[in-house]
Parts: sequence; structure tokens; C-alpha cells
Amino acid sequence: KKTQRLDKILGHLGYGSRSDIKKMVKQGRVMLNGTVPKDSGIQADPYEDSITVDGKGIDYREFIYLMLNKPQDVISATEDYRERTVLDLIPAELRVFSPFPVGRLDKDTEGFLLLTNDGQLAHDLLSPRKHVPKTYEAHVLGEIGEREIALFREGVTLDDGYVTLPAELEVLGHERLEEGVMSRIRLTISEGKFHQVKRMFMAAGSKVVYLKRISMGPLTLDDSLTLGSYRELTEAEVELLK
Ligand code: URA
Repeated sequence: KKTQRLDKILGHLGYGSRSDIKKMVKQGRVMLNGTVPKDSGIQADPYEDSITVDGKGIDYREFIYLMLNKPQDVISATEDYRERTVLDLIPAELRVFSPFPVGRLDKDTEGFLLLTNDGQLAHDLLSPRKHVPKTYEAHVLGEIGEREIALFREGVTLDDGYVTLPAELEVLGHERLEEGVMSRIRLTISEGKFHQVKRMFMAAGSKVVYLKRISMGPLTLDDSLTLGSYRELTEAEVELLK
């Protein structure tokens, strides 16, 4: 049995400060295995024991893992003094777990963003040595084709001299606009340099005008998640990430 103080368990879930919780226990609002504990510092196992607050069982977990479909105009940060952040899209009862985004998407990039409070997992996913693949779909000005496919497969030199690892480019289609041709593409990269996708196309002489991440490692963005909505990962999905 892995026990910890009852007030610590409830504090982690956002029920308030240690003194708030002491008060709740004194008021008889908290039950441990069917009885009202005398002391809010009593030891309990958050997974095995029955703990209720106002008659409602707590839903304890140490870590949370969220898949968010990030919209444009919100930034991949936990707080900002003037911009909306991805944390503003998460309800208070999950914000108490202090999730943070695993990596960054630009303000104008949409799509798959993982949020978690599991620092070890985040660190592993972001490690440059792990080469976790990330797949993006984009709209790019100009006619993208075999030349760019070959270039990206070989590695392209970015504006700072960095040569990218081999990346897989697929052309999904072309659209004729008044201003010229726009290409719809899918690109999988295995690293995450600053603005990497935009800079790869810049190096190839074209411009990304719309960018969305659709997958990261083994996980793909749920079709059912509208822009700005999120869901928790299943246990099986969390295992896939490890
Ligand atoms: N590459 C970019 O240029 N922007 C992103 O947001 C992600 C990858």
C-alpha cells in the first residue's frame, strides 16, 4: 500500500490549501473508507482507499495526459501577460494538475499538442536523440513536387546553416488560385528545430501559409476533436508514448 497524507492527496486534486482541507474534514465533508476521519493528516492510499468529498468519490491520478487540437491565435505556453495560452482551453479541474505543453507550435499553427504534468515523459519525447517523428499538413505557395521531395529526403540547409535530417514529403494535391498555385502537402520530420517546417520550405523557395500538426510519435490527432478542444489520453495511448 502506498499511502500519503489525506490533505496532500486532496491538495493535489485542487480541493484547496492544507487549512481549507482541514476545515472540510472538520465539517465532516470528507470520508475515508466510509467514516469521517478525525485528522486531515491521516495516511490514505489514493488509489485503494475510498475517499469522498461531499459524497462524491475523488478521481485520483498523479499524472494527466491531454491531446489538444490547438487553434490559431493561442500560444504554446502556460501563462502570458497578454496572449491567450493553451492552458486557457483547459478547465480548472484539470489545470490544478499543472499540465504544460510538450514542445511548441507557433501561434499560427494548429493541431496536435500534448499537455502533461509528467516531466520525465515530456523530456523523453523532446530529446533530440529520440527522433520522435512529427507529421504536419500544410498549404504551401507554389508547385511543390519531385524536386522538394528529393531535397527534403536528402536534407535541406536552413537559413542558419543547419542541415535537416531526412524528412518524408508527400504532395496531396495542387490548387489553382488567382495568385498562382498552392500545394497541399504532408511532411514528417524527426526533429524539432525552431519554425522547422516553415524554414524548410523557405529554404526550398516557397512559403507555408497554413500549418497543422496531425501526429506526434505513435499518436494521431482525433478527427472528432474540434479546434480548441481536448481529451485525456487512454491508458493504452500513454503506454504507447513510453
Ligand atoms: N514547424 C513550424 O514551422 N512551426 C510549427 O509550429 C511547428 C513546426
